[in-house]
Amino acid sequence: MSKKKRRDIPRFTTPIIETHCHLDYLEQAELAATIEKSLAAGVERIVTIAVSADNLHRVMELANSSQYIWGTQGIHPHEAASYTPQVDAVIRRHAAAERIVAIGEIGLDYYYDHADRAVQRKAFEQQLQTAVELDLPVVIHTREADDDTRDILQNYSEALLRKGVIHSFTSGPALAEFCLAEGFMLGFNGITTFNRADNVRAVVAATPLDKIVLETDAPYLTPVPYRGRPNAPYYLPFIAETVAAIKNIDVEELLRQVNRNSRALFFNGA
Ligand SMILES: [Zn+2]
Ligand SMILES: [Zn+2]
Repeated sequence: MSKKKRRDIPRFTTPIIETHCHLDYLEQAELAATIEKSLAAGVERIVTIAVSADNLHRVMELANSSQYIWGTQGIHPHEAASYTPQVDAVIRRHAAAERIVAIGEIGLDYYYDHADRAVQRKAFEQQLQTAVELDLPVVIHTREADDDTRDILQNYSEALLRKGVIHSFTSGPALAEFCLAEGFMLGFNGITTFNRADNVRAVVAATPLDKIVLETDAPYLTPVPYRGRPNAPYYLPFIAETVAAIKNIDVEELLRQVNRNSRALFFNGA
């Protein structure tokens, strides 16, 4: 097999904030190297996302282990059946920590349907209520569930003062428009580099610059030209390049705005 050298990771001067990845999927040994390589690629902050009752503690540990890592607490729609009052109590206790910046990822996934849809809706609603009470932004995962996501968000959006992000946005333009009007940001990742993602690129094109944040969703969704390898925050520059090309602006200019957006989203602008 021929070994074609892939293009090096481009290096921009504006710092990049990774708004969504899953660092707990890495072995401890890989973790230090991944962070080092990410810093070298210009990544200055990494938000690692909780998904299940099993990783709530690990995300806390990671967020407390490094000055570059922050975390979230929440139960993914795939795991909605495990969202119990006991788990909610853990989420609320952990979420009081300074290094926890959001409730998530929460939402609806009708593509995989790993959990019963009624159970998904209930866990989504209850965790939105948790975010309202704790005054934290939310990280929302929604797939093939545009109508129900809109109907549920409609009931909580006003009370959610810090709003949040619809991460890995792949839904239709109507849901994008609704979420943007409600003050949510949209998170874009390596999908924007995939051949068959014209629908996602159309949403990027229609999203105002001050509503865009970048993520990798690592270890999934590795951007071109490294598709097929495990993903990591150090591939963010490829996503930045693609989004800047869609918006027809300079990458540094995009990154400056996206950095402000990410700080507003998770760090109260700091
Ligand atoms: Zn997700
Ligand atoms: Zn995720």
